Amino acid sequence: MPELPEVEVIRRGLAPLLVGRRFLGVTAGDKRLRQQSPLAQLRRWLPGRVISKLRRRGKYLLFELSGGVTLLIHLGMTGRLMAAPPPSPALAHVHLQFNLEGGLNLLYQDVRRFGQVLVYPPGVEPAPLAAVGVEPFSRKLTPEWLLTQAKGRSRPLKNFLLDARLVAGIGNIYACEILFATGLHPATPVSRLTLADWDRVLAATRRILKHAIAKGGTTVSDYLNSRGETGLFQLELMVYGRAGEPCLRCGEPINRLVQAGRSSFFCPHCQKLN
Ligand SMILES: [Zn+2]
Repeated sequence: MPELPEVEVIRRGLAPLLVGRRFLGVTAGDKRLRQQSPLAQLRRWLPGRVISKLRRRGKYLLFELSGGVTLLIHLGMTGRLMAAPPPSPALAHVHLQFNLEGGLNLLYQDVRRFGQVLVYPPGVEPAPLAAVGVEPFSRKLTPEWLLTQAKGRSRPLKNFLLDARLVAGIGNIYACEILFATGLHPATPVSRLTLADWDRVLAATRRILKHAIAKGGTTVSDYLNSRGETGLFQLELMVYGRAGEPCLRCGEPINRLVQAGRSSFFCPHCQKLN
């Protein structure tokens, strides 16, 4: 599932190709995504409008269009966005094709169809953004703020980090890696963390996300960037997906624990539950 770094890599790949181009038309495959504006709506609001900006908020891509229209895309579990000159490659599971001026098509492919492609008329704030927490690189995110959010709560640290309503964009892979980097056990109740702990969590979050973006994201199953290339950060994963393998720091076998239905990978020696 694409997390913040993968979505940011896609944004950076697409922005130079797409910004300044005009939508000409939209075509759709037989099956709709679980959350998709009807084709008639996409055809009403997109053609003729120029992409003025391509932003990211959490795991959402936001195409800001001329006249105040917004196109929101979330890649769900298996969504991919690719820009290609026509004729488009014959790919399975391409649910939407956006034709842009200057001979470029933007293709949305999604095997499992959990993605979202939603258009918002001028003046309408995309509803999903209301639930998106603070950006990891935002100045609003401070160790003090995290300490306040965690106060009096027994919630496990891993689940806290995965809560996109608090901090946006951190998924299961990066949450595991961040916790290993800080030496904190994924089940640590958040109320036990000190200001110094939150300072370490925040520093590790920013360092790991930034490094993952620089490496083109993480490909563990099917993530590809907008050019169809895999990321490289999977080569640097310390714990994620490594249950039973030796810890790269101490040699103890990596453990797996299920928390809120998701696998947490951690080293029982480097990440003791205090
Ligand atoms: Zn270890």
